Amino acid sequence: MFEQKHIKKTRRAVRHKLLPWFTANKRSMPWRSNRTPYRVWISELMLQQTRVDQATPYFQRFMKRFPSLKSLAAASQTDVLKMWEGLGYYSRARNLHKAAQIITTDHKGRFPATAEAIIKLPGIGPYTAAAIGSLAFNLDLAVLDGNVIRVLSRLFAYSRDTRSTAAKKGLQQLADDLLVQGDAGNFNEAMMELGATVCLPQNPNCAACPMPTACLGFQSGRPTDYPIKAPKKKVPHIVVGAAVVTNRKGEVLIAQRPVNGMLGGLWEFPGGKQETGETIQECIVRELKEELGINTETGEFLITIHHAYSHFTMEMHTYFSKIKSGRPRTIHCQDYRWMKISELREFPYSKADLYIIDELEKLRRES
Ligand code: SF4
Repeated sequence: MFEQKHIKKTRRAVRHKLLPWFTANKRSMPWRSNRTPYRVWISELMLQQTRVDQATPYFQRFMKRFPSLKSLAAASQTDVLKMWEGLGYYSRARNLHKAAQIITTDHKGRFPATAEAIIKLPGIGPYTAAAIGSLAFNLDLAVLDGNVIRVLSRLFAYSRDTRSTAAKKGLQQLADDLLVQGDAGNFNEAMMELGATVCLPQNPNCAACPMPTACLGFQSGRPTDYPIKAPKKKVPHIVVGAAVVTNRKGEVLIAQRPVNGMLGGLWEFPGGKQETGETIQECIVRELKEELGINTETGEFLITIHHAYSHFTMEMHTYFSKIKSGRPRTIHCQDYRWMKISELREFPYSKADLYIIDELEKLRRES
């Protein structure tokens, strides 16, 4: 569907314009020095969910705590989640921990060097496999991430909805066609760098681009018409009640979420989704009974947190609470603990629960 002539022209532009531009302009990033498969893997997973400037401190902290694949494999899941805390998509952290253990036992601690073996590891899909394969082992694999999709859509004035599977297939084929054989790592990084620093979503800086003569989007005069995206479906909104249950010693109760669910293995202030016809206070009482087997009464309001996940948005109303009868049991949670407020941060939480901790610490400072 793409004109062979334009593919050839773009391939020449990639080789003779884009790659030299990348060599001269690439940003310095911690994972670009001392490039090992392990460092490439961790950085790629982090970059899938956050920008370079936000990923950098996470990467440095992670590498300090787990400098090698061996140290990651030997760590507890809680420690790994703690290092991932705030990055979101916690199944990635659980999977990379599992993958490190598999590499240690099944591959004698050496990161597998073929695309087939890399993609078999938990949590590694085609994008991550292509990134690790090309950047760490220089395998001829083209990556297709959001930046590359935008650059390709503009270079070829691609007229399909880029959220569709068919379009992604077409763009992957295009990336494969343009790939500079034997220099895949540089090709991939150059495409991603162009998308991240020049071919920006709203304001592409075409004057600074090394390839305008090969860009049909630029030549159309309306590069921001691409990529074409069908509107996103509206995501559902849920209302949640959460409790800061306190005891006589001034400790608060936290529970660990079941390992295999959403935010699995993270710790939280217990609670859950409000049901139809229920007040938030009733919701909290019901949830604490179901989750921990305790009868409680809800006290003062603490904070409401609004948070957006990839597939829903949430408002979480948090109240103080006290146990009227019963002792906590692990009915619908993995574990529970009574903690002093000063100790809460020893465990990993989702962002919403971290806001509750911020609020509790603020109250403690003010009291
Ligand atoms: Fe993007 Fe403009 Fe370069 Fe085309 S010319 S790839 S639109 S920055």
